[in-house]
Amino acid sequence: MLREGAALKLVTRSQWGARAYRTPNGATPYSRPRRGVKLHYLGTAYSDRAHDKCDDYVRQIQAQHMDGNGWSDIGYSFVVCTHGYVYEGRGLKRRNSANGSTTLNDQDYAVLLMVGSSGLTKPTTAQLDGARDAIDYCRAEGPAGAWIGGHRDGYPTACPGDVVYAWVKAGAPRPAATPPKTATPQETAVTEAEMDRIADKVVDRLLAADKFNAPTDAADYSDDPKNPGHYWSGRTVFRDLVTRVRRIDKAVAELAAKKES
Ligand SMILES: [Zn+2]
Ligand SMILES: [Zn+2]
Repeated sequence: MLREGAALKLVTRSQWGARAYRTPNGATPYSRPRRGVKLHYLGTAYSDRAHDKCDDYVRQIQAQHMDGNGWSDIGYSFVVCTHGYVYEGRGLKRRNSANGSTTLNDQDYAVLLMVGSSGLTKPTTAQLDGARDAIDYCRAEGPAGAWIGGHRDGYPTACPGDVVYAWVKAGAPRPAATPPKTATPQETAVTEAEMDRIADKVVDRLLAADKFNAPTDAADYSDDPKNPGHYWSGRTVFRDLVTRVRRIDKAVAELAAKKES
């Protein structure tokens, strides 16, 4: 299964306008489940481009592999552009031809990140996410095991370049989401005077704001000296309650004293 929330942006062969692969070699299946995934880079100069130019570039790689190298198809299993899209090369079932030898090709999938050895050499955040999506996809659907590495593992090449290789050796982590901006202490600091003002407001709301009619048998405990007995607040209710409890305590004590005598 793909990670919860991951959205593999797969571009199928028909979507990027792939040429048909040559048979029978281009149709050779893997002989066993894959150990894992090997990453690659372009190894040439590369400059970033608008996404609508990415499929042109993938077709160019395919043409170079088929017409230049004489291969049956694009060599890679998948190709990841700087915008995080994953182009289907030989895909999950057909053996790639990018890892250096038939044995190495049969052992691991081959995933290319479209970054260069000069120009754009550092993968974008979207691209690392896309590469991670491709690895997860190979594991979930390949099947591929948990091994990950670079073209240079077991083959003499600089590929996939030091930046991609460091990332893959760290376990190909998904780039961290940008943390939300947190307030600095200066922005949240409240002075003592402000705290006092806030506390007074709280007391006012709790004890003085609600006003309601006083019971007719109550003593005059109004908070409003100009309008005695007309209404109560929380403060006057509390005062009345204390007076009544004291009166009851006194009455009980008198009753107890009478009983003893
Ligand atoms: Zn490579
Ligand atoms: Zn793109």
